[in-house]
Amino acid sequence: MSNYPHVQLYIDGHWREGAAERTLPVLNPATGEVMGELACAETSDLEEVAEAANRGFDVWRKISAFDRYKMMRKAAQLLRDRVETVAQLMTLEQGKPLAEARMEVMAGADTIDWFAEEGRRAYGRVIPARQMDVYQLVIKEPVGPVAAFTPWNFPINQIVRKLSAALAAGCSIIVKAPEETPASPAELIRVFIDAGVPAGVVNLVYGDPAHISNYLIAHPAIRKISFTGSTPVGKQLAAMAGQHMKRMTMELGGHAPVIVFNDADIALAAKTMAASKFRNAGQVCVSPTRFLVQEGAFNEFVDQFVMHAEKLKVGNGMEAGINMGPLANPRRVTAMKNLVADAAQQNAKLKTGGKPLGTAGHFWAPTVLTELPLSARAMTEEPFGPMALINPFKTFDDAVTEANRLPFGLAAYAWTRSARTAQQIAAAVQTGMITINHLGLGMPETPFGGVKDSGYGSEGGSEALEAYLNPKFVSQAGLSDSLSG
Ligand code: NAD
Repeated sequence: MSNYPHVQLYIDGHWREGAAERTLPVLNPATGEVMGELACAETSDLEEVAEAANRGFDVWRKISAFDRYKMMRKAAQLLRDRVETVAQLMTLEQGKPLAEARMEVMAGADTIDWFAEEGRRAYGRVIPARQMDVYQLVIKEPVGPVAAFTPWNFPINQIVRKLSAALAAGCSIIVKAPEETPASPAELIRVFIDAGVPAGVVNLVYGDPAHISNYLIAHPAIRKISFTGSTPVGKQLAAMAGQHMKRMTMELGGHAPVIVFNDADIALAAKTMAASKFRNAGQVCVSPTRFLVQEGAFNEFVDQFVMHAEKLKVGNGMEAGINMGPLANPRRVTAMKNLVADAAQQNAKLKTGGKPLGTAGHFWAPTVLTELPLSARAMTEEPFGPMALINPFKTFDDAVTEANRLPFGLAAYAWTRSARTAQQIAAAVQTGMITINHLGLGMPETPFGGVKDSGYGSEGGSEALEAYLNPKFVSQAGLSDSLSG
């Protein structure tokens, strides 16, 4: 695309190149061609951005929650007004169909609105004191400048949850956005600038992720880290944050079980789960992956799921009528190839897909594998691609054992007509989220996060705001004296 922008850093109120004027190419995953370039931050830029965020924090924390709310609401509206431009950039750089990109942008605006409002309700509390003339207060203070590291699968959504919660709480932020999908995040930052957020409050950098995280996590100005990405990288960053005593939120990998009981509405389960599986070509941390289907419903579920998978139109996300775009980068295609070859070698049944599509770009056919042994790599590694793994189970306990077998614990799905089974499975599955008989994850007002190796902290709901607030206890005596005197 000739009008794909040259993407710059945004530091201390200015769009600019990095100190060394170094750039990285940005590729279109549907064609494999270079579309543009982005600026890279060097060490001196990182020092500048940390200092800018420190000054920005001092400005932003003194602006009232009500005025912060007004600027954020304005930013949300600007994002809605610009949906078409931002969505097109996202599809070009990430590959998802334009309709999905539009939805992500609009959902991003809703997230900004929700956190803007929630920031006005960051109430403290009054604790009854042991003496008559003492007031004991808990005041919520912003934690300070935040460093946020976000991945390429949802270029807007992964940033907007951190950015909105941080700003609503009164924090400044440095976003290290994904180098592979940089232009739509830059447009997200722009709506905050255009809404009047002061210099230093919102900053944007790209470059070498490890260099940037090493520098910023250790920097004394930075008080909070938020990372979304793979479990191995999350563990490295969490260790570093621990060493420097920084607060952190970690939203890491998953391998979501989908438990379908004999008494479920099989047609609805297959249709809903297939749509969810192949959304964003399966490059979703909560993507349904290990389908555990009770024996009595197994064949029917597999047939219907395969039918829905085969109906999907795969192609360039910019074209009308496309249901699934390319994978975002060639690493995912290699991963799909290796996981399918390994499963086939271990006698899993390939029901559909399992191969690349076309001659250009990173297209992979929607893939359904069944009857996989637990030793198959895909049953343990997060596929992060358009791949459904479907195995039968006998009893409730068998399903729970398999659902909880992996170290991941992000999302789970269940389908049953029994209220009792629904309640029991919600209690038995070790994940941060479970949605039963429908898709109910990922609203701004609901908690979003995992347990075990999937990380900790929440990126939704009032919990997400708390992650950017420190409680300060104030105990004050003598008020009654001064009032009476
Ligand atoms: P990766 O593990 O190298 O990178 C994942 C993300 O972390 C990228 O955005 C990358 O820029 C960032 N990153 C990597 N090293 C970093 C560091 N030292 N400091 C700061 N950021 C760093 O691999 P990848 O090929 O980009 O993605 C592969 C895997 O990552 C997927 O299989 C999936 O498990 C996971 N992933 C998860 C999410 C999610 O939503 N939770 C999103 C994208 C990728």
